[in-house]
Amino acid sequence: MERIEYMINGSSYSLTADLHTHTVFSHGTGTIEENVLAARSKGIAKIGITDHGPGHVGYGVRRWNFAKMRTEIERLSALYTDMEILFGVEANIVNASGTLDIRPDEFAKFDYVIAGYHYGAIGGNPLANAIAATKNLAQNKSGVATKRQIRLNTRNIVKALEKNDIKILTHPGDKAPVDLLEIAVVCAQTETLVELNTNHMSMTAADVRTMALAPVKFIISSDAHSPGRVGDFVRAVNLAYDAGLDMSRIVNLKVTGPETG
Ligand SMILES: [Zn+2]
Ligand SMILES: [Zn+2]
Repeated sequence: MERIEYMINGSSYSLTADLHTHTVFSHGTGTIEENVLAARSKGIAKIGITDHGPGHVGYGVRRWNFAKMRTEIERLSALYTDMEILFGVEANIVNASGTLDIRPDEFAKFDYVIAGYHYGAIGGNPLANAIAATKNLAQNKSGVATKRQIRLNTRNIVKALEKNDIKILTHPGDKAPVDLLEIAVVCAQTETLVELNTNHMSMTAADVRTMALAPVKFIISSDAHSPGRVGDFVRAVNLAYDAGLDMSRIVNLKVTGPETG
């Protein structure tokens, strides 16, 4: 397997794992096998399949597909023995009590659970969710968020982190304005990885610096919705570089060239 390398300021970087990818089981365009082969062709030996949680009205994975997906991952793992293929899910943070659309008794079906905020997820009070989503949409577009909205969004995510074993917090601050430092502090406590998402790119270098004030670790994800984007990591390296982030805090980045400092 030959890894794709990216060089910046005398150091070269490659990705060792992509743990956030979507398939046709939610609204991706590729099959699980196509995502696996895409990662393999780029020298990335570890891939996670993380379709959207079942609470999303538009494109959530159907619960009856969980077993089918697991079976397919087992088949592919036997076929491509040089690959580590993991079964995850991108759960939706659905309400103020920190509930996810993956129930506690369902966690065992997955190798890991990642979670983020998305519009259009149901659970808890549908009217409250709809109002919150509408406000977030409007405030995100205008760039002006009220303190109250930031506090509500932050509280929902903090509760979800505290109540559930979430491996990765996906695209923090995307779609809903939040207090990034407060969230980073909780991620450090719960050992949740903070995502540098090359699909959304919602964080600025200043945002990354803010989150890095807490002792968190970061992970780069493609959040690919098509096989061609699996393993896409360059923009996240640039972002981390611009932020002055210590690259050793990114758990799936390998430094393959000399450090020049
Ligand atoms: Zn997402
Ligand atoms: Zn995603």
